[in-house]
Amino acid sequence: MSHHSLRRSSTTDSLAGHTPDRLSRILPLDTSYRSSQVFSWIHRGAASFDEMTNIPKTLRTTLAGTGIPMYSSRVTGTQADPQDGSVKFSLELSDGAVIESVLLSDGKGRKTACLSSQAGCAMGCTFCRTAAMGLKRSLSPSEIAEQFMHIRKMAADTSHIVFMGMGEPLANLESVKQAVEVFHHPESYAMSHRRMTISTCGIPSGIRSLAREGPPVRLALSLITAREPLRESLMPAAGKFPLKEIKEALADHQARHRQRITLEYVLLKGINDTPEDIKALARFASGLQVLVNLIPWNPAAELPFTEPAKNDTAAFAKRIMNAGLNCVTRYGKGRGINGACGQLAAQSAR
Ligand code: SAH
Repeated sequence: MSHHSLRRSSTTDSLAGHTPDRLSRILPLDTSYRSSQVFSWIHRGAASFDEMTNIPKTLRTTLAGTGIPMYSSRVTGTQADPQDGSVKFSLELSDGAVIESVLLSDGKGRKTACLSSQAGCAMGCTFCRTAAMGLKRSLSPSEIAEQFMHIRKMAADTSHIVFMGMGEPLANLESVKQAVEVFHHPESYAMSHRRMTISTCGIPSGIRSLAREGPPVRLALSLITAREPLRESLMPAAGKFPLKEIKEALADHQARHRQRITLEYVLLKGINDTPEDIKALARFASGLQVLVNLIPWNPAAELPFTEPAKNDTAAFAKRIMNAGLNCVTRYGKGRGINGACGQLAAQSAR
């Protein structure tokens, strides 16, 4: 059995976030049937092996005896937005790092989990609060999968996932891919890939990896503006990648997965709301099938930007549509609790 403890220290932080196949290499489970059972219990949020009543008692005792924790995070607080019913979760990780996840509910009762892929972020986007934290570290597959497990415990009908919380998912792609595999698995949530969206500031190699190897989740690009010098000044790290290269990667993704790509456009008053921005956007989008998601900037007191007025946002949306593009405006959910896009910024406990 010694190989089990070896594996534990090198690759396993907790049991959540591992597919049945991987679980059978971490735990003394000798059939895929048993591995699936344990996997299913863990992702339903079982508190201990003792709750796994369809597993023989002796095996339950053996599993508990390995000492490998089932989870590596705990919910230290939840905060509900009285306006729109969104709930922000604060999670503490085993090393004391703190991350946030958000349960978003839209008017039609659809529930979406907004997950973090990193504690903090290294991309430095000037309009985003998470950037100010810097990057603490990337999250393990367990830490990503557990965020969804916690949310599902509160709202079992959460049907969609977006990687739009803290961090840049394509800077932690292997862990994100593994978490997606867990979410998709029939013994956990059987979530269709089309109900999961990875949002990226635009890392071409990561987009190409998703295009070629999958999984075929939906893709959203935080474009912000297609005026390249402006984009680089607003997004110092992401702006380093030429838009031409980003567009080629998106085209590759679209050719293989045949899905409409979302372009997220955070509207910053007086900055990316000019006629030149419309022209550049139309040029960038030509040849791609896109939906522009217009997001009026969610304010953060310490950041030097101004929220656009409602009618200015509406006027800009109209200009986008007049340029021949599909556009929907997304008013920040969870703003009342600093849980909207770009407002997540937890203080570390230690
Ligand atoms: N790093 C990824 C995912 C996290 S950000 C990405 O860049 O896409 C999720 C979305 O929130 C992005 O589209 C980002 O541009 C947007 N965003 C960041 N700060 C914001 C703010 N203050 N108001 C509105 N949207 C914001």
